[in-house]
Amino acid sequence: MGLSSSKFSIEFKRLSTGFHQRRISARGVGFDLFIWRGGDGPVLVINGATHGDEYEGPTLLRQWAEHWRPQSLCGSVVMIPVLNEAAYYAGLRSAPADEVNLARAFPGKARGSITQRLAHLFDTQVLAQATHYVDLHSAGRAYELLPWTGFISHQRNINRTQRTMAACFDAFWCWAGPFLPGRTLSAAFNRNIPAIYVECRGTGNVDSRDLRALESGLLHLLAAIGCVPSKRKAKLRHQILRTTRDADEAHLQIHHPSPHDGLFVPSVKVGDHVQRGTTIGLVHYLGKLGGATIQAERKGRIVMLRIQRSVRAGDALCTLAPI
Ligand SMILES: [Zn+2]
Repeated sequence: MGLSSSKFSIEFKRLSTGFHQRRISARGVGFDLFIWRGGDGPVLVINGATHGDEYEGPTLLRQWAEHWRPQSLCGSVVMIPVLNEAAYYAGLRSAPADEVNLARAFPGKARGSITQRLAHLFDTQVLAQATHYVDLHSAGRAYELLPWTGFISHQRNINRTQRTMAACFDAFWCWAGPFLPGRTLSAAFNRNIPAIYVECRGTGNVDSRDLRALESGLLHLLAAIGCVPSKRKAKLRHQILRTTRDADEAHLQIHHPSPHDGLFVPSVKVGDHVQRGTTIGLVHYLGKLGGATIQAERKGRIVMLRIQRSVRAGDALCTLAPI
């Protein structure tokens, strides 16, 4: 990797002023980066496709790289449209070779499986240089969600920065919760880097409303953290904020699990408000008549719903939030 004078294969602060395309790779894993280098200042890192079937982040970042040439820039902006290439090219959430979820693999292992090596490479080569971090996600192919932004509750000054960063994405609501291990945001947390994630609609597509919301959020964010000058403070729309101390609340893969394999037929829509006990849908058996009725485990709003009809036992069908 040519680590002669630095522990980083590319030291962002040492790049010349301007726009750069680079690739970081080691031990059979790697990713492409677009880097804008200005004067001294923050180092903002943004990536898409931590999960391979989430296309809003890659689309936004790829479009952005094509046309964004700021007149004056403080610090560095580093964009990685596709972090998890093996999963992305397979069109799957995780890399087929090891089926490890990259968002559970951090901080990774230098000599682990392909996904563990990728987590380690990103953490040590990129995150370690960041002052601010944004991870762009979505519901993926199998789900649809009510777009939100979120962060791990942290110590006071970092929390304030994270709240400012999240508020920039003012078309979306905000979900703050306690530490969960393995995420990109957990790695940022451990390095005391203010970090947020953004969750777009998903369904395997890219909704133009989400793309506009991401673009406007990013513009606000660049000004808010001081990467680009702003003449006046942006007027942001009021954002619904939900803060929870319950680590399970925003853990999307555990709510309303399918009790058996079969065919899921939802009877609610994303955004609906439901009462505890409201029917969310039915999971039909395939080999016999009948099935299981799925009832809302709490009162709340449908913020994520499975749209892929084929389900295995244990697959999450729906997530509710008290918003
Ligand atoms: Zn994701």
